[in-house]
Amino acid sequence: MKPKIIVIEDEAILRMDLKEMLTDAGYDVIAEGDNGEKAIELAHQFKPDLMIMDIKMPKMDGLKASRIIAKQSKTPILMLTAFSQKEFVEDAKKANVLGYLVKPISEANLVPAVEIALSQAQQRVQFEDELLQKDKKMNARKQIERAKGVLMKVKKLNEQAAYEKMRNFSMKQQVSLERTANAILKKYANDM
Ligand SMILES: [Mg+2]
Repeated sequence: MKPKIIVIEDEAILRMDLKEMLTDAGYDVIAEGDNGEKAIELAHQFKPDLMIMDIKMPKMDGLKASRIIAKQSKTPILMLTAFSQKEFVEDAKKANVLGYLVKPISEANLVPAVEIALSQAQQRVQFEDELLQKDKKMNARKQIERAKGVLMKVKKLNEQAAYEKMRNFSMKQQVSLERTANAILKKYANDM
């Protein structure tokens, strides 16, 4: 599937150029806007793979908009900037701004920047996913330990026997050790 991109730029001609360059490069420009407020609205509505946003815009500038968007979603942002605005962008990187592109924009600098931003965004998602998986595994291990403790106490078993009882039950019922542990914890909740 084509990556979905939203373009926010107040200069209409540049916005049109960007849209054309992106479309030619195989991206799907799903929405566009010309100020920060619109950017917030569109990011929320479309959840794009990437938002390309100008800094200097009427109503609300791109930096402020990116900070607000970061609080609401994980929408990655590539900033468009004039050379003199570099220091502002460094500040914005703390939020969800993955990079910036200095004007004038050409296909030669746009497409690689978009590719890098998209792959960074994907890496970030993967990394967060890995953290979540690790967290889940750790929780499962904790539950298993707790259930083992409960069995030892209720059934007066030693650690090895309690563990084997759980493992045998899991194998027989063809459920995970974690599910067995949760069932044990639930069953003996009142005995503890
Ligand atoms: Mg502008």
